[in-house]
Amino acid sequence: MKNNQITNNFLKKVAGPDNLKETKKVIKKLKSKKGIETDAEIFEKISKKEIKIDDDTRILIKLHDASIANYQKDTAPKTKKEILRWNFDDEKFTQKMDEFTKQNEIITNSIITDFLKEILNSELDLEYIKFIILALIDGIETDEEIHEKTDIKLNTVRKLLYKLHDASIANYKRNKDPETQWFTYTWRFDKEESVEKITEFYTARLKQREELLDELENNLYFVCCMEPAHFKGNYTESSEYEFYCPVCDYELEPYDAEKEKKLLKRRITIDKKNFQKFEELCE
Ligand SMILES: [Zn+2]
Repeated sequence: MKNNQITNNFLKKVAGPDNLKETKKVIKKLKSKKGIETDAEIFEKISKKEIKIDDDTRILIKLHDASIANYQKDTAPKTKKEILRWNFDDEKFTQKMDEFTKQNEIITNSIITDFLKEILNSELDLEYIKFIILALIDGIETDEEIHEKTDIKLNTVRKLLYKLHDASIANYKRNKDPETQWFTYTWRFDKEESVEKITEFYTARLKQREELLDELENNLYFVCCMEPAHFKGNYTESSEYEFYCPVCDYELEPYDAEKEKKLLKRRITIDKKNFQKFEELCE
């Protein structure tokens, strides 16, 4: 199995973003000569959520749900207990990976990533929010189910769903359970609204960068000759200080904007390219 970004993201989706290492270990075992055997009874209990267990069997169930691992029933020679002999379905894996390509582009597109960073105000939870979005796209509707599928803590799932809601790219319906009188929330990904918000984000950033580039190209800037971080201003702003640094009083010198212009141009080009990819994804 290749150790590349798409394989890793696919396995994170199948077994949860924090379970990548474990999942790879299980797959390695599955592919080894010895393979994996599990107790059929325990497997059934875990599948039915009658018991919770934190071992390879949990990962096996996730691989099984994604149809990339399957088993044959057998009887253990010594104990006569029913066991499951597991194997890894390479063909199915390749097929599922192909199907995942588009979703991988969603979570790796830098415009979408930067947009999500803005929603979160940080890079913390960035990976979690991406896999929650994929779960919603796949039609998983409740916080509990998303938690089961991704292994992301329930509190975090809830917090991030509301962040998506605040950014209006996900919405929910509140229903009252007629028996328990409890409210349940079913969530939905709002594709149209997401496309609109991400387009707005991209357009605003592009405009800002193009305006800055335009200014740098058409104006002469001055900076403090001792410490550029002290001051940077255009001719008018600098003349207000009579071309002396307002912080340290050393002279201001003409600013060489080449590096900044180059960087801006590069960012603009990359953004345009990624936005084009984003538009292709939306088709
Ligand atoms: Zn200075």
